[in-house]
Amino acid sequence: MNNFSFQNLTRLIMGKGTIARLSEEIPAGKKVMITFGGGSVKKNGVYDQVKAALKDYQTVEFWGIEPNPAIETLRKAIALGKEENVDFLLAVGGGSVIDGTKLISAGLLYEGDAWELVQKGSATHTVPLATVLTLPATGSEMNNGAVISCRETQEKYPFYAHFPVFSILDPEVTFSLPPYQIACGMADTFVHVMEQYLTKTGESRVMDRWAEGILQTLVEIAPQIHENKNDYQLMADFMMCATMGLNGFIALGVTEDWSTHMIGHEITALTGLTHGHTLAIVLPGTMWVLREPKKSKLLQLGARVFGITSGTEEERIEKTIQRTEAFFRSLGLTTRLHEENIGTTVIEEIEKRFNERQVHFGEDGLVDGKTAKEILERVR
Ligand code: NAP
Ligand code: FE
Repeated sequence: MNNFSFQNLTRLIMGKGTIARLSEEIPAGKKVMITFGGGSVKKNGVYDQVKAALKDYQTVEFWGIEPNPAIETLRKAIALGKEENVDFLLAVGGGSVIDGTKLISAGLLYEGDAWELVQKGSATHTVPLATVLTLPATGSEMNNGAVISCRETQEKYPFYAHFPVFSILDPEVTFSLPPYQIACGMADTFVHVMEQYLTKTGESRVMDRWAEGILQTLVEIAPQIHENKNDYQLMADFMMCATMGLNGFIALGVTEDWSTHMIGHEITALTGLTHGHTLAIVLPGTMWVLREPKKSKLLQLGARVFGITSGTEEERIEKTIQRTEAFFRSLGLTTRLHEENIGTTVIEEIEKRFNERQVHFGEDGLVDGKTAKEILERVR
C-alpha cells in the first residue's frame, strides 16, 4: 500500500424527502445562488422542492449550465453572482451543473478571467457550495474535481476546487432520467472504478475488493434498472456506486490510471459525444493495448468480477475485455468510433494534441500521442 493522507469534507445526506433538509444545512442569512441545467428539474418536481425548502432565504437563480459545462456560460454565472453578492452556492443537477458550479465558486473570488483558473488546474479560495444531485455518474457530489470545457477552442480540462459542504441524494429524483443518461452514468461509474483498479496488483486487498464490489453491483443492477428505472432500492444502489466510485475512498494507497478519461475528454471536446459514452468506446481499447503491463490485474478482474477462470492467460484476458465491452453494449451504448461517425480526423487531432502537450498518462506513463492513437485505432 502506498502512503496517503485522506479527508473527504462532504456531508452526504441520502434518502427519500431529504431535499426538505436544505434549510437545516445552509446557514441562516446566506444569499444563495442556485444553479441549474436546462430545465429537467422543472418537469420532475425537484425545482419546486428546492424552492419550498429555501423559502426563507434570499435566492438568485442561474439557469442554463449545459452538459460539459462551458466557460462561456460560467463567465455569465460568475458575473451575476458578483453583482448579487451571493455568499453560498447550491448546484441542482447532474455532474455538469455541479462541476460548473465548482468553477463559479472559485471564480466569484477571483479578479481575472475564470479560464485562467482552469488552465492553472486548481483554486483554493472558494465560496461554499452544496449540491442536490439528480444524476448518478460523476461522483462530483462528493469530490473536489470538475471538468470544464471551452466551446471556442474545443478544449476540456480537469479542474480542482473544494468539496461540496453537503450533498443531498434522493433516489426518487432519478426516476425521470432518460435511459441514455442512465446508461452513460453507469458507464462513467464503471470506468471511474476501473481507472483506480486496473493498474497494479498486490497494493491493497481491501481496496481491490471494494472496487470489485462496486463493479459487481453495477453488472448486477444494470439489467434490472433497464427493466424498471423507477425502483427505489435499485436507484439508491446505483447512486451509492457512483458516489463511492469517485469520492476518494477506493483510491486510498493504490496506483491510478485515468488515461481512458483523458482520451474520452478529447472525444467529447471535439465531437460533443456524451462523457460516459466516450469511455464505453475507449476503455476496451485501453485494456487491449495495455494488456501486457496490466496483465495480472486483468486476470484478477476476469476471475473475480466476471467469473472467467478457464483457458490460457491470453484467452482469459481476451474474454475479460470482451465481457467488459459486452457490458457496455448491454447498457444500450455503442462501443466503436465508426458507430458514432468518428474517424481519422478526430484520432489524428487527439494524437497531435497529446504530442504537443507531451503527456504521459496512465500508471506507467505509457499513454502518449502514439499510444492514444493505437487505442483509438483498436476501437475504430
Ligand atoms: P450532465 O451533463 O450533468 O446531465 C446530462 C443530461 O441529463 C442533461 O441534459 C440533464 O438535463 C439531464 N438530467 C440530469 N438529471 C436528470 C433527471 N433527474 N431527470 C431527467 N434529466 C436529467 O450529466 P453527468 O453525466 O452527471 O455529467 C457529465 C459531466 O461531468 C461531463 O462534463 C463530465 O466530463 C463530468 N465529469 C465530472 C467528474 C468529476 O469528478 N467531477 C467525473 C466524471 C465526469 P438538464 O440540463 O435539463 O437538467
Ligand atoms: Fe467520468
